[in-house]
Amino acid sequence: MNRFEDRAVPAVRTLRAYDPGHDLVALRRAAHARGLVELGSNENAYGCSPAVRRAVESCLNDLYRYPDPLGGDLKRALAARLGVQVGQLLLGNGSHEILMQCAQVFAGPGDEVLMAQYGFAVYAIAAQCSGARLVMAPALPADAAMPLGHDLDALLQRVGPATKLVYLANPNNPTGTAFSRDDLAGWLSACPAHVIVVVDEAYHEYRHEAGSAVDLLEAHPNLIVTRTFSKAHGLAALRVGYAAAHAEVIALMERVRESFNVNMLGLAAAEAALSDDNHVASVRARNAAERSRLAAALRDLGYDSLPSHTNFLLVHVGAHCETVERQLLAAGVVPRPMGGYGLAEYLRITVATAAENERLIEALTEISA
Ligand SMILES: *Cc1c(COP(=O)(O)O)cnc(C)c1O
Repeated sequence: MNRFEDRAVPAVRTLRAYDPGHDLVALRRAAHARGLVELGSNENAYGCSPAVRRAVESCLNDLYRYPDPLGGDLKRALAARLGVQVGQLLLGNGSHEILMQCAQVFAGPGDEVLMAQYGFAVYAIAAQCSGARLVMAPALPADAAMPLGHDLDALLQRVGPATKLVYLANPNNPTGTAFSRDDLAGWLSACPAHVIVVVDEAYHEYRHEAGSAVDLLEAHPNLIVTRTFSKAHGLAALRVGYAAAHAEVIALMERVRESFNVNMLGLAAAEAALSDDNHVASVRARNAAERSRLAAALRDLGYDSLPSHTNFLLVHVGAHCETVERQLLAAGVVPRPMGGYGLAEYLRITVATAAENERLIEALTEISA
């Protein structure tokens, strides 16, 4: 008998695939009469910049060609924007790919990879794929000032001689929590230099006023900052992410990069999105307004959510969470269940357009009636 399981490398045998949430294609096909309200993936409900459409259209005659394997134009635009050298930038097929590469390059059997409880699920998968041991520092308690957020002290306590890599999300998904740039600077100064520290800023654009870890790169050559065009820039479909780090770190990661990992449409779209500051500013403002409106409406219905620095809310639904989720789905509203994170009483809900958020509130009002 073929037992293919036994043939996989040990790291893969213990792995569970990333859970992308509900099967949206199937749900769309089943089509709720009023249309589906998709609140499960933290996408930007306001869409991308109009400049992106023009940039994508300008590529359509060249689809038979390979994309620029260096992503030179996008990297130069990013370098100018971030104040780093082109050689300090790596492009990825989404930042998911880059997060995987960090572990692939810097961790292996016998090493430890550290992350926070309730940290983004991809970190655990990346760590396990590399064959390293995953170490999880407990999150802050639910009644802390930053409920369920990263406990930076607890993380530091777990850094040891075997620690090769640490993943910090700022802000974090699924909690929506964030720590300050000063706290991060202090943490990096206390962390031994043999540890590579990845700071995932996928939601940076939603709290850019709080500063970025990019400014700390010069003082901390062991730092990797990752970002994405999937969230505030609204390009989730095109899969473009990037990392900024020391040029030698980037050069090592380049060795494992698939040569054409970012496609032609993605490169053109990301460059166009990056140039449209007004669009990002408008997304940020609309999200902030809708987020407080939605949180207040949820609170009125008896559902508390964590203070969020992102475009989603982690909502405490309670013991009957699974029932509520099923009723939401029946009403054509798709949240993200959190059982996989050990947060079975919570649903993660994207802050969407006013009309979509209204559909959620309507459905929940009916459910609690
Ligand atoms: C969405 C997300 C990402 C990755 O998104 P990509 O689409 O792969 O760029 C990375 N980190 C966090 C915390 C996220 O929520």
